[in-house]
Amino acid sequence: METDTIIASATPPGEGGIGILRLSGLNAEKFLQLFFQPAGSVSALESHRLYLGSFLDQQGLLVDEVMAVVMRAPRSYTREDVVEIHCHGGTVVMRRIMDQFIDAGARMARPGEFTLRAFLNGRLDLSEAEAVIDLIRARSDSAGRIAAAQLKGSVSRTVHEFQSQVADLLALVEAHVDFPEEDIEFADQQRLLSEAASVNAHIQDILNNFDSGRILREGLSVLILGKPNVGKSSLLNILLGESRAIVTDIPGTTRDTIEECLVLGGVPLRLIDTAGVRDTEDLVELEGVARAKNKIESADLVLLVIDGSRPVDDNDLLALESCRQSRVLLVYNKADLPATVPDVRFSPFPSVTVSTRTGEGLDLIKTAIVDLVCGDGRSGDVQMDSVFSDRRHREALVRCSESLDHFIAALSAGNSPEFLALDLREALHALGEITGETTPDDILDRIFTRFCIGK
Ligand code: GDP
Repeated sequence: METDTIIASATPPGEGGIGILRLSGLNAEKFLQLFFQPAGSVSALESHRLYLGSFLDQQGLLVDEVMAVVMRAPRSYTREDVVEIHCHGGTVVMRRIMDQFIDAGARMARPGEFTLRAFLNGRLDLSEAEAVIDLIRARSDSAGRIAAAQLKGSVSRTVHEFQSQVADLLALVEAHVDFPEEDIEFADQQRLLSEAASVNAHIQDILNNFDSGRILREGLSVLILGKPNVGKSSLLNILLGESRAIVTDIPGTTRDTIEECLVLGGVPLRLIDTAGVRDTEDLVELEGVARAKNKIESADLVLLVIDGSRPVDDNDLLALESCRQSRVLLVYNKADLPATVPDVRFSPFPSVTVSTRTGEGLDLIKTAIVDLVCGDGRSGDVQMDSVFSDRRHREALVRCSESLDHFIAALSAGNSPEFLALDLREALHALGEITGETTPDDILDRIFTRFCIGK
């Protein structure tokens, strides 16, 4: 149990109609009483009630007219005493109120510290705490829905089910540990085998659906590739419907990669524009090209842009070559100009013809992208409450499944119960990392520092 009382602004910095400051900890209410004078004849503050009143500084001077609420433990976000002050949303007002509390002994909260306390006090498990930041960061409806389901325990429930099944197996195996010379009876062995296999099959289902979940959560990463001057930036801009990347006539000016998000037909996309891929001696650009190659490998889809008004050349072929391993959609751009004869070496790939200048054919790109994603028949209507979308969770499930595989093999080979128990404990350990029971501290740190201050 933490003993210090933390404070942070719960609303973003800058001007706003109201600003909310939040305190959590043993002294939260005591600190409030030092500065808050409720209007009317209020003798004591009831929990979970909003009171109008004056916030006075140490000298008794009025800082602001505010609303304040006390949420007494354990019925609060952190399960500690929590106080919120709703004041006017101005930088000076909020800083002055914050200063009073800090002078009185409160400490500035670190990023994610409120949620960390909620986790440490058992109000949220780790996957639910992670959902809080996912919900805040969600950039599409689908990402928001996945996060909301996870916050309500969708991931935890599934993991708890697995945990209880594996714990049952472990109990059965451990009953034999004291009698190592006796083999596990045939009936028990069959039961262990079939139950372990059934947990593993369920985990495999989840892993098979992981990509749809991940795409809905993180967005489909779409890389825009092509030699310089074919119209990559123009394409990015027109897809975004606004000019953010700088469009120029000088080849190779987009040296670094630019990433933008949009939602297309319900599918969130992350569009990545790269430095033009081509043979180059220019060092800066070489770096960009190398980075592009990394990104090509991790992209879900590559839009390979080609200038359809000119014959393809070695640089186009080089670009095609660099994305051989990926899912590619050829985009023949500049359809407003007379077209050249298509090159047979490009004909095996799906393609669309567009003009970023006139807007012709852009709908085709959008449909092609949505088709490519939903063509698998999955992303369209994924069940949000059975979806795993976080890579950390996936990785733990993979380890759990490997331990179960190992257990099944060892059981079939007639290994001793001690060894069998070891595999099951490893499986449980991996599952516990998802919910936070066995997560190493450095991973916890990494998760909570992703949060903003005040959450
Ligand atoms: P990038 O180097 O591949 O990013 O290409 P840009 O988007 O910077 O475009 C290069 C040049 O081609 C610019 O002069 C654009 O105006 C031009 N351009 C882009 N798309 C089209 C198009 O559909 N039709 C025509 N005629 N020109 C285009």
